Amino acid sequence: MIIVMQQNAQPKQVEDVVRRVEGLGYKVHLSRGEARTIIGIIGADEHLLQPTAFEAMDGVEKTMRVMQPFKVASRDFSQENTVIDVGGVKIGGPQIVVMAGPCSVESREMLLETAHAVKEAGATILRGGAFKPRSSPYSFQGLGEEGLRYLAEAREQTGLPVITEVMTPEDIEIVGDYADILQVGARNTQNYVLLRALGKQNKPVFLKRGMSSTIQELLMSAEYILSGGNMHVMVCERGIRTFEPLTRFTFDVNAIPVIKEMSHLPIVADPAHGTGKWSLVAPVAMAAVAAGADAIMVEVHPDPTVAWSDGAQSLTPARFAEMMKALAPVAQAVGRTL
Ligand code: PEP
Ligand code: MN
Repeated sequence: MIIVMQQNAQPKQVEDVVRRVEGLGYKVHLSRGEARTIIGIIGADEHLLQPTAFEAMDGVEKTMRVMQPFKVASRDFSQENTVIDVGGVKIGGPQIVVMAGPCSVESREMLLETAHAVKEAGATILRGGAFKPRSSPYSFQGLGEEGLRYLAEAREQTGLPVITEVMTPEDIEIVGDYADILQVGARNTQNYVLLRALGKQNKPVFLKRGMSSTIQELLMSAEYILSGGNMHVMVCERGIRTFEPLTRFTFDVNAIPVIKEMSHLPIVADPAHGTGKWSLVAPVAMAAVAAGADAIMVEVHPDPTVAWSDGAQSLTPARFAEMMKALAPVAQAVGRTL
């Protein structure tokens, strides 16, 4: 249930409602919008609450049952889009944020070279995997903490905030010591133990859609993090499994406007994993921006032919720069900047 406060509600009136809700044993999520304050009530047996009792309280305009199974993630909870500030880079605002870098951090030299190249071409966040969730146990699993150190050094040199994947609850602390955004990969979208642990810390979380997750399941996964108290969650469309074999996955462009309608969370598009082929990355990135994506994540490698992972879908620095040029007018056409 959510309680919508009157436009001119006094702080004391908000406080009284919050105290009443908490006194009944429920958790409260406050959303202070420009127009009004919304109080979200979170609890397993929230249906037992009597809406009319709250409507009798001073400063309350109305109460509403949230129809969707996810609550804090829903549009009902916040009409205003969530904007996540990562070291001055705002994800969910008018500017399209571009996250770029190698699939895996392979060495200090290749990471620094890539970081400078993507920064030069206009990327605003550096990506790079240090803990890699590979489909085969025999594939390269990432450099681990050594990779995290190179990411931190690249941030120091370029000023770009860093995003990298965290695979287990035990790794959250160490990854959080180095990274600005914690990425949850498609293979972990429904790892609820990991999601709950991420809800208990405050670093922004980048949550990928599982390759077989529905949009509702993705938003339910986001709810696990949000309901723990961490409001800095962005979700990512990265392609789903379909019967089409010509691309690695099928990028679900529908997911972008669907999520915009259903949720206030920023949405990122990953056309690299979504297609599996570098030549398809720029056109699908353009489609995603046109459809309303707030950010793009792509893979860039100095020489994709020798990449240790995902070379086929990685852009060279030159091709990345070309993609940035092609994206700018699309962003402008939909009222955004790049
Ligand atoms: C990645 O970003 O390199 C990655 C492993 O992505 P996903 O989890 O979408 O497969
Ligand atoms: Mn990859």
